[in-house]
Amino acid sequence: MPRPEPTTCASCGRPLDGGYYTLVDRPDRYCPGCIATRPRCATCGAPLGDQHWRLHDGRLQCAGCHATAVYDPPEAKRIYAETVAGVVSQFGMGLNVGVAFRMVDAPTMEGIRAQGGDIPPEGHSTLGLYHRAGHLRTIYMLYGLPKLGFRTTVAHEYAHAWQGERCPLLRDEELREGFAEWVAYHHLRWIGCDLAAQRMLNAPHPYRPALERLLGLELRLGAPGVIEHIKRAE
Ligand SMILES: [Zn+2]
Ligand SMILES: [Zn+2]
Ligand SMILES: [Zn+2]
Repeated sequence: MPRPEPTTCASCGRPLDGGYYTLVDRPDRYCPGCIATRPRCATCGAPLGDQHWRLHDGRLQCAGCHATAVYDPPEAKRIYAETVAGVVSQFGMGLNVGVAFRMVDAPTMEGIRAQGGDIPPEGHSTLGLYHRAGHLRTIYMLYGLPKLGFRTTVAHEYAHAWQGERCPLLRDEELREGFAEWVAYHHLRWIGCDLAAQRMLNAPHPYRPALERLLGLELRLGAPGVIEHIKRAE
């Protein structure tokens, strides 16, 4: 049975008699007042309800994101290891040198990003980062991400770490990001999160055309063919 449509604002709880707004891919509805005036969740962009959390670096987090957020470093490390093991067994994407893992807050992430690394698409903050400084290779993850977003971002950044070893000269930005998204997309399907994977194809994310290009490549070459293609690409 379909869920009944909400009749009250998900932020303030008042009846939606003056029209409402929704966010992409979410059932919640918000009144025009909350959309216009409430501060937004730093993670998902939803107008905050009365119950929300302030992280130590100042980010505000909604109840929905907080419910599954990864705050605990040992838990982060465990999910990170599970995700990497999944990508390795799914695609055989092992590393020779390996990569360290660190969970950091938003200002630390910005500081590392300023030293070089992916610049996030406009309007998106840096959720994760693969960074190489000399011999030191590290995946940095933003503290407090919801679990599924955390996994998706780890898979994406791990793909960049792999590219750093297997195709360090790959300059085609769309191919580089598209491949990282493709790995993340397949990881979601691999762990049974088909809905979240489907969302990657519907969301208006700036990397979506790049992901579509890789899925097109997969149709022609198969998944192992995509991996071989990336190894040889420039
Ligand atoms: Zn409201
Ligand atoms: Zn949120
Ligand atoms: Zn990337």
